[in-house]
Amino acid sequence: MKQLLKRQRTFFRSGKTLPLAFRKERLRDLQQALYENEQALTDALYADFRKPAMESFTTEVGFLEQELKLALHKLESWAKPRRVRETIINFPARSTIHSEPFGLTLLIGPWNYPLQLVLAPLIGAMAAGNCAIVKPSELAPHTAAAIEKMIRENFDDAYVAALEGGVETTQQLLQQRFDYIFFTGSTPVGRIVMKAAAEHLTPVTLELGGKSPAIVALDADLELAARRITWGKFMNAGQTCVAPDYVLVREQVKEEFIQLLGQCIRDFYGEDPAQSPDYARIINDKHFNRLSNFLKEGSVRMGGQTDAATRYFAPTILEHITWEHPVMQEEIFGPILPILAYEEIDDAIAQINSHEKPLALYLFTSSKEKQHKVLEQVPFGGGCINDTISHLINPNLPFGGVGHSGMGSYHGQASFDLFSHKKSIVNRGTWLDLPVRYPPYHQRLPFIRKLFKWL
Ligand code: NAD
Repeated sequence: MKQLLKRQRTFFRSGKTLPLAFRKERLRDLQQALYENEQALTDALYADFRKPAMESFTTEVGFLEQELKLALHKLESWAKPRRVRETIINFPARSTIHSEPFGLTLLIGPWNYPLQLVLAPLIGAMAAGNCAIVKPSELAPHTAAAIEKMIRENFDDAYVAALEGGVETTQQLLQQRFDYIFFTGSTPVGRIVMKAAAEHLTPVTLELGGKSPAIVALDADLELAARRITWGKFMNAGQTCVAPDYVLVREQVKEEFIQLLGQCIRDFYGEDPAQSPDYARIINDKHFNRLSNFLKEGSVRMGGQTDAATRYFAPTILEHITWEHPVMQEEIFGPILPILAYEEIDDAIAQINSHEKPLALYLFTSSKEKQHKVLEQVPFGGGCINDTISHLINPNLPFGGVGHSGMGSYHGQASFDLFSHKKSIVNRGTWLDLPVRYPPYHQRLPFIRKLFKWL
């Protein structure tokens, strides 16, 4: 590991990553590699947790293709020094902001979108001119192996490398000195990463999780809300960081809404979702058992069937749940949707705000007033009005959490900016050099005060 870092340090210092032509060529290599490995990656995702091919394409490979296309198309304009307004005090001068790569970056990923969540940051790191070590999650071992192979076959490891391995490997990596660490995973491990980074004063981005609410108001289009929440919740079998974790629905429409959710689940996955080719499995026994324990309290209104041998966990709706139940004490990260009721929107807002800031929030309402109120009064990473998940689809929207759900945002240009240090430069003209700022200046203070005020 030390040797690898040394090679990367030497490569970075050689300046080879600086020309935009180099960066674009390597991004094209990644594009080609993805294209050539698409089937192998889709198979690996299926082997890890029966990820449906359609979801593998839309949320992993297809997503990355979009990010790559955008980076290739926009790199010149993103990387251009940006001129800013002058201040008269510096006259004559030209002020610019330059984007400079940090150097060696470490990109640590989780298992739930095991390809997208290490390669999307890699695109940003490469576009910004950095070297990178990618550490995919050991809990999706087939995908991790496919990523390692693809990177090894297409890149000089002195520039970009992928390392397979478990917690120990991540911990060893964290002891090394990097210039930037990008971590996606759970909040407790985020804390470990940040502590380790502090040792070397390495800046970090943390893309973490949390309990993301969906609010369904009385004036919402209930059918549409049910369809879009069912889609966002049960995609990837609920193992999505931005999945609606629970629903807060207005008491008067709760029963109708639960019926509609049930209908959507049947429409999407059939009477027996275990037979559906479009429904994923739980990643491992530990998570399967953790989720099974959540069913011990409250009432199962729909689903609840499980099969430990195949780690099948039916899309499940839970009712009669309070914030004291274990299912509401941590991020669910699985196909269980607790339904809680509220009376007034202020009550829903108060419930959300008495917990950590969520990664996402989804509000279903036709009322502009409610939209404004929730956006103004509830802090959260990002989200949608009358939809779920789709804020990730627009690369012009930076994606990230806030507070315990993370820090820093990426996607599209935000990824380039995240992996670039912004160097501020004033280029002063030489033809004018007023002596007023140079000592001895104490006698000039009254004049300077007046001048500042006037300026
Ligand atoms: P995790 O935190 O357990 O693991 C993520 C990575 O950290 C893995 O590569 C693993 O090797 C490493 N790791 C685990 N334990 C470690 C330790 N003690 N010391 C050092 N490294 C360690 O997360 P996960 O279970 O893979 O993913 C699920 C979590 O990730 C959920 O909380 C989810 O919300 C979050 N997530 C967030 C986003 C986002 O974009 N904000 C996206 C996907 C997942």
